[in-house]
Amino acid sequence: MSTAPTTPETDQSQPAALSPTERKQQLIRDIKALKKERNAVILAHLYERVEVQDVADFHGDSLGLSQLAVSTEADTIIFCGVHFMAETAKLLNPEKTVYLANPNAGCPMADMITREELVQFKAEHPGIPVVAYVNTSAEVKSEADYCCTSANAVEVVAFAAQECGVSEVLFVPDKHLGNYVQTQLPQIQVTCWEGFCPTHLRMNPEDVIKLKKEYPDAEILVHPECDTPMKEMADFIGSTTAIVKRAKESRAKTFIVCTEDGVSQRLSQDCPEKTFFTPTRASAVCPNMKLTRLENIYKSLLGQNEPMEIPAEIAEKARRCIDSMMRIAGSKGGPAMVGKSS
Ligand code: SF4
Repeated sequence: MSTAPTTPETDQSQPAALSPTERKQQLIRDIKALKKERNAVILAHLYERVEVQDVADFHGDSLGLSQLAVSTEADTIIFCGVHFMAETAKLLNPEKTVYLANPNAGCPMADMITREELVQFKAEHPGIPVVAYVNTSAEVKSEADYCCTSANAVEVVAFAAQECGVSEVLFVPDKHLGNYVQTQLPQIQVTCWEGFCPTHLRMNPEDVIKLKKEYPDAEILVHPECDTPMKEMADFIGSTTAIVKRAKESRAKTFIVCTEDGVSQRLSQDCPEKTFFTPTRASAVCPNMKLTRLENIYKSLLGQNEPMEIPAEIAEKARRCIDSMMRIAGSKGGPAMVGKSS
């Protein structure tokens, strides 16, 4: 049970002389103090603003943060990401208090399929297992058999087909990730829902070609949520964490990073000796991921947001779907998908 936090310095009348930078530093100090007091952990997705990632205890991708949410001993989890991520953290930690730092941050791709639509899709393909990308609501997960992230989608689809003894798998909601899985597993028919990520689809090959002409030695790193023509240009295709790892380990000095702009920003900070470009930069920003600001984290720590709640009947079924992914990830030793913010 959470205890009432003491009044932090930010709530007291601020000296008028504080500059915006000093106010921000004060807010960061207040967040750190309140976090300790409430035994809270702050988790931030790599697409979040850099200042949000910096104040977080950990930043990473969906799978890494989910794994971390399971192992944390904190009483409260503040999730800086979008709705389905905080929902997943709550499913994995039913006894903990979980806040989505900004309750208005949703994912348009996750909203492209409802539970009712999935029930109908299953009825049209009887006996075929469903793999749901983690970018789905708990309601949709409650109707799926397996869950995956972009980091392990190929493994999970292969596992699902093998475990169920079938050669077809239904994949929801991202058809671009599903199509990528299909190229990696030609022996399995991957039947995809028609969902997509608007942010990744706004990146276009012309911008990559232009950058490549200017920087011919640049490595092209592409997220599988991008369209096929983008993936065909890639030197490397991988999840956000795989892209970060590749950029850090590669001998190349320049990279064209085809995923949400937050990843390039993070890499520019972590590897100042290398250069990172995001094609179509202005459009390669997920507006939902950028909704979270330091003030939202602070408000959540004060308990001023509604904590995440999921109806028991949905939660139980959705948890089974997520557990299937954790089981598969665990059997592979569990990828280290998170970084600790300093
Ligand atoms: S980047 Fe795409 S998939 Fe990720 S939260 Fe934004 S809209 Fe959803």
